[in-house]
Amino acid sequence: QQPATSAFSLRFSEEDIGIITIDVPNEKVNTLKAEFVEQINQILQQAQAHPHLKGLVFISGKPDSFIAGADISMIARCQQAQEATELAQKGQAIMAHISAFPVPVVAAIHGACLGGGLELALACHGRICSVDDKTQLGLPEVQLGLLPGSGGTQRLPRLIGAPRTLDMMLTGRTIRAKQALRMGLVDDAVPQAILLATAIERVKQGRRSNASLPWSARLVKGPLGKALLFHFVRKQTRAKSHGHYPATEKIIDVVKTGLDQGRGNGYQAEARAFGELVMTPQSAALRALFFAATALKKEFGAQAEPLPIKKVAVLGGGLMGGGIACVTATKAGLPVRIKDINQQGISHSLKYSWDLLQKKAKRGYLKRAELQRQMMLISGTTDYSGFRQVDLVIEAVFEDLALKQQMIHEVEENASQHTIFASNTSSLPIHEIARGAARPQQVIGLHYFSPVDKMPLVEVIPHAQTSAQTIATTVAFARKQGKTAIVVGDSAGFYVNRILTAYINEAARCLLAGETIEHIDRALVDFGFPLGPLQLLDEVGIDVGTKIVPILEAAFGERFAAPAGLEAMLADDRKGRKNGRGFYLYAPKGQKRRHKRADPSVYKLLNLTPKNKQSAQQIADRCVALMLNEAVRCLDEGTIGSARDADIGAVFGIGFPPFLGGPMRYIDSLGIVNLVKKLQLLEQQWGARFAPCEGLLQRAAQGRKLYP
Ligand code: NAD
Repeated sequence: QQPATSAFSLRFSEEDIGIITIDVPNEKVNTLKAEFVEQINQILQQAQAHPHLKGLVFISGKPDSFIAGADISMIARCQQAQEATELAQKGQAIMAHISAFPVPVVAAIHGACLGGGLELALACHGRICSVDDKTQLGLPEVQLGLLPGSGGTQRLPRLIGAPRTLDMMLTGRTIRAKQALRMGLVDDAVPQAILLATAIERVKQGRRSNASLPWSARLVKGPLGKALLFHFVRKQTRAKSHGHYPATEKIIDVVKTGLDQGRGNGYQAEARAFGELVMTPQSAALRALFFAATALKKEFGAQAEPLPIKKVAVLGGGLMGGGIACVTATKAGLPVRIKDINQQGISHSLKYSWDLLQKKAKRGYLKRAELQRQMMLISGTTDYSGFRQVDLVIEAVFEDLALKQQMIHEVEENASQHTIFASNTSSLPIHEIARGAARPQQVIGLHYFSPVDKMPLVEVIPHAQTSAQTIATTVAFARKQGKTAIVVGDSAGFYVNRILTAYINEAARCLLAGETIEHIDRALVDFGFPLGPLQLLDEVGIDVGTKIVPILEAAFGERFAAPAGLEAMLADDRKGRKNGRGFYLYAPKGQKRRHKRADPSVYKLLNLTPKNKQSAQQIADRCVALMLNEAVRCLDEGTIGSARDADIGAVFGIGFPPFLGGPMRYIDSLGIVNLVKKLQLLEQQWGARFAPCEGLLQRAAQGRKLYP
């Protein structure tokens, strides 16, 4: 028996098959740590000492994870590329040990099998996984600016072929059981109840050669096919990464080296590239975001224990209400009651969930019975029936202060004493909504982003009288819905929309000065945003996006003044994608447009002669500098609690380039003195809105950074 502190324990079946259980002590999920190298070696030796050993099975002792990846803090501690390379080499050596083991070794996979976990499974001679929603296989290292460093880049292409390997590694996406079986990633996918028994059967079958690569992989085995594949993948990857993600280039290089020059060279290239990538600022920024998001998952935003939420109600079954009800039922698994003034709102929101679940079911991610069960959690009403049992009401009615105040009165009358009232307002101050409430301590803002089922962020906004318990309960509930919650101050625009508006307004000013729509959007996409600001405004809705501008102007003055002339867009009924009229051209409903093209009639409407006078760099500088300046103001005013939260909010809420780590980390990497100089130059050129804020000036003078 291993000491109790070991993550690996060994027992033998009656048929002399060693079963190694992976169960990292005192952790909820299994992650690989450096010290496990020794432990795995020991356990393999111990197994080998068995006189009649027929084979080995790796299985997890945790309910939801086989191995969810490597412990990232171990990577973060590396000071030099060589150290990280050596770390990778240790990982490679242990996987080589498993792979060369004299009897068959099989991985029995249930739950998350990611990163180093999948690399371990790949080193085994067979893989069986459970058919379960929790079972997911993937190599997500690219999302941390890294590549799989324990042999994964060499073993995976030989198992499933180069095209699928590159797809998995370059996107970092996860693969479910059935798909894993179809692509040859696992040998079988079975119910969890017979996982171990099937793995043992698989051991008895011995090793197999991977003779049957998929046709797509065989096609590109020859030199010409291979050259074409790598050329095509590189081109496609560069078009997406805009050169900001060095890990993607290295992944392609290392897979290619292994296929061209053999495994030995491949492993060497893998370990070297891993070491180099660990040292890149991009990986450091992505890892910092990962740590920040992980830390946020453990916080409740207040010193209080969250109360249990068992039943939820949503007021207003529109775009947002439909989405909020959907994630409450499908992600949080809670019963949710939607109240609208008309049947149409209710049907709309039921359809929202139905369409989404249908899509999942069609792709095989959701069983019919589960779909029915989740749909049963959602019910509709046009009165307040059922509200007495509700612990939390989320309001998503029209953006109208008096209406929202009336909602509080009605909820206080019809719900329970303890019911929390959360408003999804995007611009109204929470303390004003709460004015007149009988229980203001139970009123809070809970600001979602559209589309609710896709956007990972929510802002939780307490007002002065909100109780700590209400804050903690709301944060805990948002997390149950799968959201990352940041607690922000109750001031105009909160945090995300305030910094976003500063940025979009500047893009609009560039347009109104005659820069073309494509030029502006491309400038910011090249900078690293997923969408340009004008396309984003089309997506959000020009009516929705511009509504907040006068509110911000009233609160913060001139620097938020609406770009003069833009109102013509709304006067011309241009709301963006939702009504097919915006900055871009949209195909009629039911048809698809292959290439996104700006609508040339916008220039005529705005009385402009389009001509690009500024470089992409100048445009990006203007838009981003204003966002950075505003973000620092938010931090210093306490609208956002920390640099960490500011970064998470901008990356998760707006798509601020993740490889820069968020606005605060980006400012630190630019150097505050340099940013101040840049802002002062822009101020001379474009006006007072660029004046560096007090906080930046002070920090520049004192040589302080935003992060300690
Ligand atoms: P919407 O117009 O799509 O939906 C509003 C719904 O509220 C309608 O179905 C309407 O019938 C219903 N309603 C109106 N009065 C009601 C009442 N008295 N009782 C019950 N239901 C009532 O609006 P939306 O875009 O979903 O926005 C809702 C709220 O969310 C607004 O406060 C908005 O500012 C905020 N918000 C919107 C977005 C966005 O991108 N659209 C993002 C974040 C927050």
